[in-house]
Amino acid sequence: MIACGAKAKAASTMGLVATLDFEQARASVLSRLCANRPPLIAEEVDLLEAAGRVLAEAVPADRDYPPTDRSVRDGFAIRAADVPGTLELSGEIRAGQKSDLVLQPGQAIEIMTGAAVPPGADAVVMIEHTSVAGHRVVIERTLSHRENINPCGSEMRAGQTVLQPGARLGYAEVALLATLGRRRLRVYAKPKVAIIATGDELTGIEEAPLAHQIRNSNAYSLAVQVQRAGGRPVILGVAKDEYDSTFDLIQRGLASDLLLLSGGVSAGRYDIVEKVLADLGAEFFFDRVRIQPGQPLVFGAVQGKFFFGLPGNPVSTMVTFELFGRAAVELLGGQTESMLPLTWSRLSQEFHQKTGLTRFLPARLNSDGSCVTPLEWQGSGDIAGLTRANAFLVTEAGRENWAESDLIRVLLK
Ligand code: AMP
Ligand code: MG
Repeated sequence: MIACGAKAKAASTMGLVATLDFEQARASVLSRLCANRPPLIAEEVDLLEAAGRVLAEAVPADRDYPPTDRSVRDGFAIRAADVPGTLELSGEIRAGQKSDLVLQPGQAIEIMTGAAVPPGADAVVMIEHTSVAGHRVVIERTLSHRENINPCGSEMRAGQTVLQPGARLGYAEVALLATLGRRRLRVYAKPKVAIIATGDELTGIEEAPLAHQIRNSNAYSLAVQVQRAGGRPVILGVAKDEYDSTFDLIQRGLASDLLLLSGGVSAGRYDIVEKVLADLGAEFFFDRVRIQPGQPLVFGAVQGKFFFGLPGNPVSTMVTFELFGRAAVELLGGQTESMLPLTWSRLSQEFHQKTGLTRFLPARLNSDGSCVTPLEWQGSGDIAGLTRANAFLVTEAGRENWAESDLIRVLLK
């Protein structure tokens, strides 16, 4: 369980808990999650259900890979010491064929990609580098020892651990498990993530909102983001901007492994999320981060569960989840690490900002990633603007000016 050491403080009386830079806030989330992760539960799944899941066992190789010295080319198995020269063709070995052929000095055995290299051979010459006349193979180049041979056990040794618990299973990992003959495997149970939207102005998405109302989109973006991070979203509905309604939903949220709240964490008079959490005994690790969008971001733990109070503006909610919430879901899901998909690109135009905040601004990366353009957007409520972006420009808090073609960090969307 999470050891919430410090005493709960009443948010309403303490003012700001801690305002952190982006890097400090991210380090806080990662270190808290790693240090106080609740015990993980494993379950068994079929290989084809394993994609995207997190491995809960150490997987050993069932034999050496390759299991014999294997040719990586179509060509001729030879002795490197015999070339350049003209060799006598003495047979053929196909992939999948069990062969008793043994190569004698002065001989060449035709061999296909993936076939076992015969005893006596120590190199394979590519067919393109030979000329064949009847039973004679002419090779005019030298070959090094083991050229074009994948030696037995060079990729994996029998018994060697080739996948560790905590690995997120992608297509390569599934291919490896298939290679090892694993039809069933143990993965960690998906963490349950409670999603609570707050706001008197929110309606359901099937309702016709009046002029002063908007539909609750954050529950949907967060559900998708949680799923993508390997979690199981539990949408708990909308809390009114009043104490009892917020209290009830947060209490129900405590049945999950992580709580995500959207809205109600700014400085407004009806932003009471922190007050309710404090009354439930929450410990707050930070409640403001020097980023845009998403400054009023709250992270803490209450009754053994981590929570995020995400700012309610839809783009802020989405961005802060990607920057902080995703790491929490991934680590609660058993992953051993969580990375941000960051890269570098060159600005298509000059860029200026006021210093003080690390900004994550909707942007378009061109198809080869070499050039990035900040997009026009109307601020952190502009969901339509965000759909036109495929990335975020990441500006360092301390820098004011970038010239056209300057390198800049980019977060992939
Ligand atoms: P708040 O953080 O509660 O002050 O909300 C900031 C802005 O985000 C307000 O304009 C809210 O109407 C909007 N907002 C809050 N929650 C949601 C939500 N679940 N879906 C869409 N917009 C929201
Ligand atoms: Mg609100």
